[in-house]
Amino acid sequence: RLASVEQAPPDPILGVSEAFKADTSDLKLNLGVGAYRTEELKPLVLNVVKKAERKMIEKDENKEYLPIEGLASFRKATVELLLGADNDAIKEGRIATVQSLSGTGSLRVGAEFIGKFLPGTTAYLSNPTWGNHRNIFADAGVEWKYYSYFDPETVGLDFEGMVKDIREAPEGSVIVLHGCAHNPTGVDPTKDQWKQMADLCIEKNHLPFFDVAYQGFASGSLDEDAYAPRYFASRGIEIMIAQSYSKNLGLYGERVGALNFVLSDKETATRVLSQLKRIARALYSNPPVHGARIVAEVVGNPDMFEEWKEEMQGMAGRIKTVRQELHDHLKEIHPERDWSFILRQIGMFSFTGLTPKQVENMTNKHHIYMTKDGRISLAGLSSAKAGYLAKAMDDSVRN
Ligand code: PMP
Repeated sequence: RLASVEQAPPDPILGVSEAFKADTSDLKLNLGVGAYRTEELKPLVLNVVKKAERKMIEKDENKEYLPIEGLASFRKATVELLLGADNDAIKEGRIATVQSLSGTGSLRVGAEFIGKFLPGTTAYLSNPTWGNHRNIFADAGVEWKYYSYFDPETVGLDFEGMVKDIREAPEGSVIVLHGCAHNPTGVDPTKDQWKQMADLCIEKNHLPFFDVAYQGFASGSLDEDAYAPRYFASRGIEIMIAQSYSKNLGLYGERVGALNFVLSDKETATRVLSQLKRIARALYSNPPVHGARIVAEVVGNPDMFEEWKEEMQGMAGRIKTVRQELHDHLKEIHPERDWSFILRQIGMFSFTGLTPKQVENMTNKHHIYMTKDGRISLAGLSSAKAGYLAKAMDDSVRN
């Protein structure tokens, strides 16, 4: 009966890691998946995470189910981290927050909500975007379309195209925005452009849905990286925000995140929360407890919070350093080409502009694994390997 099931295509990002594992060369380098590595190219568990885990053992915490909406201390901490503890919407109780399965699960619950309560609404995604956005909305039965975002000519933002497409979207559309460090391009709107975007969303009654996967990890500052959603909230716009602790606390496999709705009044927040619980109950019943306790512990304890910020700045700093080194190596070996775009991009990725054929050359000849769209994760690069990567890129663009 099931023999006719067709093979699903490999995931464009996680499929790269599978190919990397199968490569036996010593030269191999995995720049596909966005996961932080040390200079020795090893995964990193933050000290504050280990400390929080030790505390949990000492407290002899149990493994009972969490409430459907998640751990209360986590939900308080996460929304305060996102919007700032003195935020008006928090004080006025007009936020609905559910702990969910990291960024992906939070986006999925949000998409399910849109499908259920705003039927017929289209979600607009940036072109390009993180590949999973399309799956998430499509699987929830929400139609999606692209809005213009990236201009390959300037290797920058096509703001005019973005404004035009969002203005032309039907009134009340969902606009998916990357909170900071746009994946895969590393190109973000300026503060003035965010202001114009907010004006436009008010004018068109659009519902912005922020995907905040890199708070504190992009610039090293939790406040700076939360600028856009905080600004939109301050303008009194109803917004949705998905949060992830995969990168900034290195909790990838623990699946810790949240979905937040900033609403116009407390009563609406109560009703929205009740529906989010109804959705989560059927999808996964209740979220995992371990990682949520880590976040609550780290964010809730002033000493650990400071230590976390330092560790996060360490990660963000290492990425900035290898970004600079890659740029400098390329400039040295191929000075006639303009590589300055690498320094203008922010976050853990660089969008190199390499064509799919050039990416094939990177992988087949140089054992460097990256996604077909030309994105490399600088978090997977070491200073020691920056020169090797630059030579491979130079070879690939010349072919
Ligand atoms: N959104 C974006 C833009 C991302 O880059 C990622 C991680 N690659 C996620 C969401 C979600 O990741 P996770 O489910 O691990 O939180």
